[in-house]
Amino acid sequence: MEKLEQIFSFINEKSEQYEQKNESTYLEGVLLTLEDVLDEKIDWTFKDASKEDIRKAIQLAILKGMRKSSQPNHQMTPDTLGLLVGYFVEQFMEEKLKDGPVSILDPAVGTGNLLLTVMNMLDGKTFSTGIEVDEMLIRLAADTAELTQQPLMLYHQDALQKMLVDPVDVVVSDLPVGYYPNEDVAVDYELCALEGMSYAHHLFIEQSINYSKEGAFLFFLVPVNLFESEQSKELHKYLKKNAWIQAVIQLPDGLFANKTLEKSILILQKQSKVHRAPREVLLAKVPSMSNKQALAAFFEKVRIWKDNK
Ligand code: SAM
Repeated sequence: MEKLEQIFSFINEKSEQYEQKNESTYLEGVLLTLEDVLDEKIDWTFKDASKEDIRKAIQLAILKGMRKSSQPNHQMTPDTLGLLVGYFVEQFMEEKLKDGPVSILDPAVGTGNLLLTVMNMLDGKTFSTGIEVDEMLIRLAADTAELTQQPLMLYHQDALQKMLVDPVDVVVSDLPVGYYPNEDVAVDYELCALEGMSYAHHLFIEQSINYSKEGAFLFFLVPVNLFESEQSKELHKYLKKNAWIQAVIQLPDGLFANKTLEKSILILQKQSKVHRAPREVLLAKVPSMSNKQALAAFFEKVRIWKDNK
């Protein structure tokens, strides 16, 4: 058995034991198992496993748990998206990474899967902060970060309220989509809706820019119709003032089971006096991951754009 399968079987078996004792759901069982490992209540024999094997094995167990007890906010960013975001972070941060580690913020960190995928890709070159409102998800993120030995500081709070975070070099986030219920908080945002409730994903973009350094890059997974909604005019206006759109990347067909959940990658740079807007916004579509030739052509297109930007 591969290491990843061995780790998954281990977590799976212990989580099922918790579930069968009727004390918890399978997902809570995963959390309790990880905590038992960290508290050294059970023996962890995978000390030589790679960070990616550990992350992926935990991811599989969490996915199984989420399928069993479907809660609407329990969504995890899948690997395909995490790896693509990681690739873009590597490309955009190439120069800056030569000067030392970069700081990353994920204001909707969930299970930490997206952020830890990116951190594992740039292993040793990042230190991060994650914010999450859901207690179970943030505990899963904390345990996964500890087991993969990634420097991740976590805060259990509403990310749209004041945060204790210094401005960062990079934001990566799979944004929660929908209306934000706390209107007392929303009024402090430029992107607060003029009428009715504000879009959480718009406020998250503004908040992320607020907590970024000048010239920082921001990588968001956003709904495909971000620039077509009835509140998009204000978003356009806000972005024009505060950020430069670097790229809008469409994702491969068939990646999302449900058309209404389809997302794209939006890459922004916070405006600064020492940088300038790209000559052209990169508009590209990622081909099917199984089409090696088309994928190579896509990466080549990104490289050419980057060399000329
Ligand atoms: N990237 C995450 C992962 O890999 O697990 C998944 C992110 S999921 C699409 C969006 C997350 O935003 C959910 O975990 C949800 O609980 C969280 N969220 C929603 N509103 C929030 C808020 N106001 N502050 C902080 N987190 C919030």
